[in-house]
Amino acid sequence: MKAVIILLLIDHDKCVCYNKNIMKVYGDYHTHTVDSDGVNTIDENIAAAKKRGLSEVGITDHAHYRVRNKKKRIENALMNKAQVQRSAQNAGIKAFYGVECNVVGMDGDIDIAGDERKLYDYLVCGIHMSVQPKKFWQFFTYYIPNMFWFVMRQIGINWTPKGLIRKNTKAVINVIEKNNIDILSHPGRYFRVDVIEVAKACIARGTAMELNNKKISFRPVDFERMAAMGAKFVINSDAHKAENVGRMDRVGAFLQLCDYDPECILNLDRPFVRPKAKLLDQIVKAVHEKNS
Ligand SMILES: [Zn+2]
Ligand SMILES: [Zn+2]
Repeated sequence: MKAVIILLLIDHDKCVCYNKNIMKVYGDYHTHTVDSDGVNTIDENIAAAKKRGLSEVGITDHAHYRVRNKKKRIENALMNKAQVQRSAQNAGIKAFYGVECNVVGMDGDIDIAGDERKLYDYLVCGIHMSVQPKKFWQFFTYYIPNMFWFVMRQIGINWTPKGLIRKNTKAVINVIEKNNIDILSHPGRYFRVDVIEVAKACIARGTAMELNNKKISFRPVDFERMAAMGAKFVINSDAHKAENVGRMDRVGAFLQLCDYDPECILNLDRPFVRPKAKLLDQIVKAVHEKNS
């Protein structure tokens, strides 16, 4: 049966198998266009989503590619949002205009100002290598050490000092707690974090964690533990080319290794809706009871 399942994943890479049931990915909520570092237009991404058989798609270009001038930035966002609606109507699919913003430093700051938040249907947020912290000294205490250990990982030294992981974890938790983030993109991919601690904050604030088709930076056992704790996930392609919109094969292969309740994945057979926030202490208590 496993061979059949794997074949299905290759043939229909928007599908996920769980206990021999085929579940369809309803929408892809993280894609990039020429408005940041993607290679296709809004129109092409949305048409590709329709061709792939998705029911919903989100355009989420990087916040750090937006122009500095605020008036121009707002005009661009409104123009793009209108384009998303036009393209969606032409393609016959539901589409959203979001943004992928950044963790900028360790104090919970992101690079979307409060009054610009309403320009977007939803916020995806993550850590990116090219985005430097707002505070100058954090460039040396936070950015450079993370860059160093990231490069080490690329040459096969898969280790990060525990103190740095603690710092990164705190930085991400601060962002989750201070901002209204809908989806945390690629947790732990560039700067290593303690995903279990991050998951607790996401549960408390109702933030979905991403299963990113480019790379998943935690182990199946971590995913199983987070899912059992009550964390919610969304599968996204993070496509930078239209041909990759809705491509979910790597996530499908990862999920083959995991034992989990598919209810924890919010965009399987249904549209993504942000999970309800829960009180952190209730989650901590539940985890404590489970472990004792
Ligand atoms: Zn990203
Ligand atoms: Zn992205």
